[in-house]
Amino acid sequence: MKNNNIINQHLIKTFNMKAYILLSLLCIIAFSTSAQINYIDELMHAEKKHFTQKMNFKPSAFANTNDIFYHRINWKVDPAVNYIEGNVTSYFKILKDQTDAIYFDLSEPLTVDSVLHRTGKLSFTHTNSVIQVNFPTKLNINDVDSLTVFYKGAPKSEGGFSSFIIDKHNDVPVLWTLSEPYGAKDWWPCKQDLIDKIDSLDIFVTVPTGNKVGSNGVLISETTLNNKTTCHWKHKHPIVSYLVAIATTNYAAYSDFATIGDGKQVEILNYVYPENETLARTETKYTVDVLELYSKLFIPYPFADEKYGHAQFGWGGGMEHQTMSFMVNFSKDLIAHELAHQWYGDHVTCGSWEDIWINEGFATYLTGLTYEHLNPENWMNWKYKALENIINNAREGSVIVDDTTDIYRIFSGTLSYKKGSYVLHMLRNQIGDDAFYEGMNLLLTDESTSGGFASTKQVQEFFETAGDTNLTDFFDQMLYKQGYPVFKVEWLQNADQSVDIKLIQTPTHESVSCFKLHVPVLFRGEGKEKLISFHQTKNNQSYSFNPGFEVNKVIFDPELNIMAPHPSWTAINVQKNELASQLSIFPNPATDKLIIKTNKQSIAETIDIISVDGKNVYSFENNSHQRKMVVNISNFKPGVYFIRAIISGKEVTKQFIKD
Ligand SMILES: [Zn+2]
Repeated sequence: MKNNNIINQHLIKTFNMKAYILLSLLCIIAFSTSAQINYIDELMHAEKKHFTQKMNFKPSAFANTNDIFYHRINWKVDPAVNYIEGNVTSYFKILKDQTDAIYFDLSEPLTVDSVLHRTGKLSFTHTNSVIQVNFPTKLNINDVDSLTVFYKGAPKSEGGFSSFIIDKHNDVPVLWTLSEPYGAKDWWPCKQDLIDKIDSLDIFVTVPTGNKVGSNGVLISETTLNNKTTCHWKHKHPIVSYLVAIATTNYAAYSDFATIGDGKQVEILNYVYPENETLARTETKYTVDVLELYSKLFIPYPFADEKYGHAQFGWGGGMEHQTMSFMVNFSKDLIAHELAHQWYGDHVTCGSWEDIWINEGFATYLTGLTYEHLNPENWMNWKYKALENIINNAREGSVIVDDTTDIYRIFSGTLSYKKGSYVLHMLRNQIGDDAFYEGMNLLLTDESTSGGFASTKQVQEFFETAGDTNLTDFFDQMLYKQGYPVFKVEWLQNADQSVDIKLIQTPTHESVSCFKLHVPVLFRGEGKEKLISFHQTKNNQSYSFNPGFEVNKVIFDPELNIMAPHPSWTAINVQKNELASQLSIFPNPATDKLIIKTNKQSIAETIDIISVDGKNVYSFENNSHQRKMVVNISNFKPGVYFIRAIISGKEVTKQFIKD
């Protein structure tokens, strides 16, 4: 899922950060200008209003008493009317002896007319959005049975976006569903959980003739009778209930084809608004490139025997319905993100909403990989933009969702999407490409998760197996704990050319005292350079190494592989920073007042204080040649700040912490 209702304050407030982070990177990043706009995806999922009504959903405690393996569904809808009428036949296997009832989730505005069983009508109750159907005789483990729930009603639309929506495009009615995370029960009786996938289903949707219906799987038939058209879709892969979806309007349809593996063709079926068809035909072609790329980097497209597709809708983003994503438009990033979910989110689904990063962090990172492979000149900038968002907004908060009743938190653009994606990028650089891709594929292919659900713990185990390493510290500090490290790299070169290095971290959040990481540092001399990765296991750790040449510049993490700020003065030559001793700041940490003092020999010509997210929060031109300045920092947000002073024309930098 990805929302495009972009409020781009982030871009405005961090613009000057771009200037200074790039000081250290100018030589290696080729910036183009307007080409970036397309992927500046500050998608903040500002859907709180939409979601508030859906909070506090807990799967029925009885969800585990049966395994739904097949649904045959008949729906009758008209995109002009907020109404649904239908029946859902469920085939299930009983998992517990002496089971006397089965439960489905269905919201109250919908009414159940009857429940049919081969023995006749079954008794049922429908309260608190749960249907309880009573069996005539108790069933035992491994018994297989089926029943059909007949229901109808006007799904409750809570204004704005919801799980069952009627809308218009170009004055033509359109209807779509979007059930993630808790909305499937708003329009059909199902088991709304992250426990049991439906192994296969047939969906029959009857609509006024002139409409097409997009849905999961393969379109088997479209038959018209008495001005009604019934579209039959068949899907034969395991699918979670929130990914079952329909969209209907007067779609124009066309297909592109991708080629994967040993020449296998995959149909990409596009249902687009007729007024957008010309543009869409150009834009959706990109799906071919991305589907082929993901199929090479990971296992081949998981639903290749059926199709991939898009159905246009009016929600402000995209939703990765299995084999047919619903899309507001066909921007490259939205295509890449929703398609990525077919591997991570659909084929393998997060096993709880706490673990949503397995859907969203992964899909966001795969979108990044489209830059690395299909648009390499903008790969550095993709990383830069993701980091910018994290540094601005993730000083606290964990990737693992601490409150799943707050749906805004589940779909936090910064924590679940951006930070989740950067954790994967860092992991790749900690364990290496081979182990990383092996772990990514184990998650898709291992029998415990393939076609099913995955927990963060399982993800960790797959990468540990692939990398033959222990990742407890990495997963703990990056996913469960909060914040990110701020680095200072102190270095000096000795007469024998050996270099002494000290890695100093100031994490933004107290939950981590030192992020244990392999930290890449680039040493550059005349015509020579060497990239060394230092394994930091404690704060203020020192290292020595001999590059074999005279070093004139040290660059912290030149490829942006560490989730941390990258200002040019992160690496400091302590020999050449002799002026630093002429500048003192105290107290440190400081609360209200910060005193900045130079010694008797020197005057600071200018002083700037820069926050960790790159904002210049204080500037002072010392025209009156003061030696001591008192800065009121009571309004500063707590965190790490940099002081940059110019003394005798040279830059001196220091850090302090505002409590
Ligand atoms: Zn998504």
